[in-house]
Amino acid sequence: MNAVLRTDITIKEICAGFVYNELEGKGLFGLSGRLVIQPEYQRNYLYAANNMEEAVIQSVFKGYPLGLIYFNKVKDDENAPGAFEILDGQQRITSLGRFVTEKFAVKDADGVSQYYSGMSDELRRKFDNYKFTIFICDGTESEIKAWFHTINIAGIALNAQEVANSVYSGPFVSAAKAVFSNSSNSNINKWSAYIRGNVIRQDFLERALQWVTKSSGKDRDAVDEYMSRHRFDSDISELKKYFDGVIDWISSVFKELRSDMKGLEWGRLFEMYHNTPYDSKKIEEQVNKLYQDEAVTNKRGIFEYVLGGGDNPSLLNIRFFEESVKKTVYARQTAAAKKSGKSNCPDCAREKSGNSKKIWEYKEMDADHVTAWSKGGESNIKNCVMLCKHHNQAKGNK
Ligand SMILES: [Zn+2]
Repeated sequence: MNAVLRTDITIKEICAGFVYNELEGKGLFGLSGRLVIQPEYQRNYLYAANNMEEAVIQSVFKGYPLGLIYFNKVKDDENAPGAFEILDGQQRITSLGRFVTEKFAVKDADGVSQYYSGMSDELRRKFDNYKFTIFICDGTESEIKAWFHTINIAGIALNAQEVANSVYSGPFVSAAKAVFSNSSNSNINKWSAYIRGNVIRQDFLERALQWVTKSSGKDRDAVDEYMSRHRFDSDISELKKYFDGVIDWISSVFKELRSDMKGLEWGRLFEMYHNTPYDSKKIEEQVNKLYQDEAVTNKRGIFEYVLGGGDNPSLLNIRFFEESVKKTVYARQTAAAKKSGKSNCPDCAREKSGNSKKIWEYKEMDADHVTAWSKGGESNIKNCVMLCKHHNQAKGNK
């Protein structure tokens, strides 16, 4: 797998012999027939429908970068030596080709609609000679597809957000990076209390995009779709407002900063709980108490547990009874049960029929808290009772 960077290919060259299929709604060829614009793994042409093709042309007029374009080198054949197909950039190149072939007009700096043929010679020359930044890759289709997701340039492995920043480069990414990828932004310090990651590697920007699109870290589709849709916006206020909303919410509910807060799924928690009223003083007392409770082995779960009103103790990974404690309690209960002729499960012993005299084996029983953990019961021998599995489960469900 090789990749060569080319910065010498102009719009005029790329759009030479551009063919647009009106029926299928897509660009087919460019570069005098040597460029296949629509390989099968590309999306269909969406820019015309989304009104984005005008924005592409405006970018060229204003001298903005169009972002990286990726070509894949196609096996040479006699009829088409040095042929390529587009790996990424199909939408941008189709927009340019459609403009050059007079499919639509664009407003110039004076607000006058101009077709390609109607532009001043000077503007057209500038347009024609605009140079792309193109990576030309050479590899098998499966290599190309894999590479497309983790593009490696000059030995630096780009992460998913960095790839997205280059694929969707434009005014939106520039404006968003100025806020979320800017290490001299004085807010980064505050945000770092809640967000884990590296500003330079785009972790804060990625988190902001995940929050506004209400998506999780594993699935990038919603983030990529959002970046594509806003690509030519210079206004990032929706992204910024949502992000600030989440941060303000966390700091208003949890007054004290704790290191375990860093990297929690705050976007999801905000969505679930930001309409619930909380008394931050009471919240702080609850958090404090749980921090001091030795039975709570997952301190990071405390914040979600408290937000949920204490409904879900499994978040805290409450420490269970030690094996030695369970065996001691089992031996004691079983000896007493044999003496009195009743079951060694106190709940069974209370029942009239069935298992009221049954002596369960150790492996058929489980330990339970006499006073529930949620009511202050501890996980020590004084608070341990062995129940048969049936009664243990019945109790656990209450
Ligand atoms: Zn029982």
